[in-house]
Amino acid sequence: MNPDTAKTTGPEPDASPTSAPRSPASIRYRGRFAPSPTGALHFGSVVAAFGSWLAARRSGGDWLVRIEDLDPPREVAGAADAQLRTLSAFGLVADEPIMRQSERGALYRQALDSLLASGAAFECHCSRSDLLPQGGIHRACVTGTRRANPSIRLRVADGTRIDFEDAVHGRISQDVADEVGDFVLRRADGYWAYQLAVVVDDAVQDITDVVRGADLLASTARQILLQRTLGLPTPRYLHLPLIVDGEGRKLSKSSAAWPVRDDDPRTGLRTAWEALGQAREALPRTDDLAELLATAIRAFEPDRIPRTPASVLAALHNRLVSDAE
Ligand code: GLU
Repeated sequence: MNPDTAKTTGPEPDASPTSAPRSPASIRYRGRFAPSPTGALHFGSVVAAFGSWLAARRSGGDWLVRIEDLDPPREVAGAADAQLRTLSAFGLVADEPIMRQSERGALYRQALDSLLASGAAFECHCSRSDLLPQGGIHRACVTGTRRANPSIRLRVADGTRIDFEDAVHGRISQDVADEVGDFVLRRADGYWAYQLAVVVDDAVQDITDVVRGADLLASTARQILLQRTLGLPTPRYLHLPLIVDGEGRKLSKSSAAWPVRDDDPRTGLRTAWEALGQAREALPRTDDLAELLATAIRAFEPDRIPRTPASVLAALHNRLVSDAE
């Protein structure tokens, strides 16, 4: 991919021999929100949901929701349904049926088999502690022990550098071999790794634009490398500011930080709007959620999205001040 043209030319044509090439006219914006069901949606995930929804709606595109339920040990019973309830209370409604990754193992298996067959992936018997002396980075197997259930990793050749253009963060360059190493596609416990599943699903769902939190900026080079290895198109990427608490710590679903209230979607949306760097006066003071959302689509200015982490406290403060005015 030429990062200089990535912004304007859109996704690369699908190079997969198994799918028909898509003509430019048939490529319309398709975005998605892909929460892991590890807890209730917190304010940071609402920013990702609203930001991806706004970007898709503004482009007249589709917006999909995918539940990334790949990691049962970290999942919380009922969390996926609670997340979907919150989205619907906020008026953020997917254009297609919700997809659940737990039902898509056969597709991940197919992708993994093709990587194993071509030699791009390999079985690895190293444990986490085996890799500690290399800072956890795998460049070659170091263990003499064979495990009953090895993990499968993607082989990353020396000097593999991935460059891409992020719509907010600009040009990003990562030496995947040095900084990440050979990475896991299927874990030793048998679960699918996020990196493989997200790449397969973004391609199968024809996602043209990935809009998500900046915590995933560090995963993007790995995903682009995997797309290229599998012959899949690369979407455009836009990483939204991370939402931090008063002490600068990332909000996380699993720590149940700043849950949002389904009975007060307008406060959640207005606060998320400001965390996205949007002008607070652009949104009407209305009780009508549909009117609020319709105005937000018209007023949304992606160029205002900040690069720096946004403090939930600052956003709340601004909102309270604007309400008091
Ligand atoms: N499931 C991931 C999360 O909740 C997001 C994946 C993505 O948007 O690519 O952090």
